[in-house]
Amino acid sequence: MKHPVFEKLRIFAPGPTPVPEAVLLEMGKPTLHHRTKEFIAILERVRKGLQFVFQTSQPTYVFAASGSGAMEATVVNCLAQQDEVLVIDAGKFGERWTKLATAYGLKPHVVKVEWGKAVDPSEVEKVLKANPNTKAVLFQASETSTGVFHPVKEIAAVVKKHSDALIVVDAITALGVCNLPMDEWGLDAVVSGSQKAFMLPPGLAFLALSPKAQESRKRANIPNFYFSLKAEDKAALNGETAWTPAVSLICGLDLVLKHMQVAGLSKIFDYHQRLANATRKGVEAMGLELFAKSDAGDSVTSVWVPPTIPDGKKIVSHLRDQFGITIAGGQDQYKGKIFRLAHLGWFDELDMLSVLGALEITLTKLGHKLELGKGVGRAAQSFLED
Ligand SMILES: *Cc1c(COP(=O)(O)O)cnc(C)c1O
Repeated sequence: MKHPVFEKLRIFAPGPTPVPEAVLLEMGKPTLHHRTKEFIAILERVRKGLQFVFQTSQPTYVFAASGSGAMEATVVNCLAQQDEVLVIDAGKFGERWTKLATAYGLKPHVVKVEWGKAVDPSEVEKVLKANPNTKAVLFQASETSTGVFHPVKEIAAVVKKHSDALIVVDAITALGVCNLPMDEWGLDAVVSGSQKAFMLPPGLAFLALSPKAQESRKRANIPNFYFSLKAEDKAALNGETAWTPAVSLICGLDLVLKHMQVAGLSKIFDYHQRLANATRKGVEAMGLELFAKSDAGDSVTSVWVPPTIPDGKKIVSHLRDQFGITIAGGQDQYKGKIFRLAHLGWFDELDMLSVLGALEITLTKLGHKLELGKGVGRAAQSFLED
């Protein structure tokens, strides 16, 4: 039951994710002017902090946009009209690459992957060999609609072996969750956004490009304006951005990046794995089946709605109405068939135990028989062992 006076809202969606109080307070400070010394110093620190998280020595770009803005920036600045590209489509976000590429007159060769599974790199190899003019391979590190992580390192190796194509990775729910060393693995464009593992509200998109991707800008000819990297590079000479940046969000990001650097990446990755493991074990102990099995990533756990509950959307609405909890349902053909619990960014052990507890109550109310406490207990056990 919700609190009678002040409803406590809890968000367990894979974006936007919860924002720490310290970050909210930081963003609540009076707005700095963006052409001041104070703000330019913050922006410089933020760009370096992003290099740390991206594991790159290349410059980083920050846009006032949701994550898709950085996907678009990559396409319009690094590719030419009519270019053939390969898209790995294993869900809603894979589809977005195809739509984006098509909107700009590119010719996508789509490697379709069954939802809930990761791509087999040999499929990528086949399509690349059949289409030797492919200029870029576009895919997700983490396909948020299914909870799957693709084998980024293996995909990158296959692409390098068989072609000169740019390796373009939407890492929006992977950066800050799992190891994705951009320079070491030779990724050419890596994209992320503020409202996932960066623990901020939506509104910032990030991009880093390899020297090869920077070189590809010379042959790019897609008209662009807001996402012009030429304009950004020029402004960066003075430590600025081309347009008015999302000042308050960047101040919040500065604080987040400071703390991420203190914690260190490997600790952050281990932490996410621990939360994900416990969540997976907890839902299985309730008699539920995981949607993404062997290829499940550590950002979000996707779960089949049990056959005992004919309309899975009721799980989502019950959690929201009775507990103020927002989880994500399934998308497209999986609407009402799966649901997703996020654990990327600012979540902790008690968050996961509480959402599992609320899920047990909800499932029971909706007619799924289970022993109350079993899922919570299994997750707690996992925390003890891990
Ligand atoms: C959230 C997300 C995006 C960005 O979507 P926006 O609505 O533009 O923020 C892109 N790719 C993936 C995999 C995501 O999870």
